[in-house]
Amino acid sequence: MSFEDNYQVTSKFSEHAHDFLSSHFIAPTPTNYAVVYLYISNENELLTAAIDRQLQKGEAIDADFLDDLFSRYVSFSHQVENTILVPFEESLTKTIDNISKKIDKEDKAANSLKKLDKILTNTGHHASLENIVSYLFSTINNAKSQRQTLSQELSSTQQEINQLKEKLASSREEALVDSLTGLLNRRGCDEKLQSLSLADTHSSLAIDIDHFKAVNDKFGHFIGDKVIQRIAKTIKDHIGKQDIAVRFGGEEFVVIMTNKTLYQAKAVAELIRNAIANMKLIQRETNTYLPPISVSIGVAQNNNASNWVSLFEQADQALYQAKNSGRNRCICA
Ligand code: GH3
Ligand code: MG
Ligand code: MG
Repeated sequence: MSFEDNYQVTSKFSEHAHDFLSSHFIAPTPTNYAVVYLYISNENELLTAAIDRQLQKGEAIDADFLDDLFSRYVSFSHQVENTILVPFEESLTKTIDNISKKIDKEDKAANSLKKLDKILTNTGHHASLENIVSYLFSTINNAKSQRQTLSQELSSTQQEINQLKEKLASSREEALVDSLTGLLNRRGCDEKLQSLSLADTHSSLAIDIDHFKAVNDKFGHFIGDKVIQRIAKTIKDHIGKQDIAVRFGGEEFVVIMTNKTLYQAKAVAELIRNAIANMKLIQRETNTYLPPISVSIGVAQNNNASNWVSLFEQADQALYQAKNSGRNRCICA
């Protein structure tokens, strides 16, 4: 696409993005604009799906909603890498290449001069020519050493860029993981799901701690956090390597049981539920046992679910039933 065409297309997207924002009474801040631009230009599948869902449900598209989408789908570190580091590194590599070519040429020139010097020495005295040769020698060597210093400096810049890229990659990883439990967060979940096909059979567990507010109220937030960590670990210990465990919200977890039927998933859910109900939690400072903790679990399979959200919704409805029918139980959708 020529610059002209590209300009026209992007201007059109930009115009539509503005229209979209003003028709929803949203201020055109950089964040809002970025999300809507990506939606209009259809560059980010998950982001587009999220907005379409919201529109289909007839729910409001507002600045908070766009903010959430920005933090979930528009990865800042990705942009830094793609728009700043990669192009800079490319031009740096070219510069270093050019410099080493020049150093090569200077080496060749110096060699020719050496030959000339030998010839001059062998053929007797040519004082003025020898002066010229040694002058050229020193000029070439000066230039060469300057270029070598520059090249070393640029190479260390290139190393710094590589370190920056590594840091960005690890911060991108961190952005996908929940820091309290080490499970994936929702963004991490979204990323993982992209490599799974909904055409295959998968199941999902929606897990919620029972009466957790009471645990917090009685023992404090710190102990509450410890309980969340233990439950996360118990979940992780009972699922396979291919399964995906997510801390979906405060005291809510989702597990995607890949390539498992509803009944296989239900069996695992029962194991998790039992393990948690039998967990012995000791409060170290006072050396006393905490009262038993339990979870309720909803299980669903993606039979008729055309997308992940509706699979999660089915599991969530089953969870709701588990809560209403007494808690500490697993119910299938
Ligand atoms: P239910 O059985 O119906 O699920 O009851 P519940 O008390 O678990 O449910 P509710 O939604 O009323 O309360 C959830 C509580 O979880 C409230 C909130 O304080 C607590 N919570 C949410 N996130 C965290 C967290 O990160 N750490 C701690 N310690 N508590 C949290
Ligand atoms: Mg809850
Ligand atoms: Mg709860």
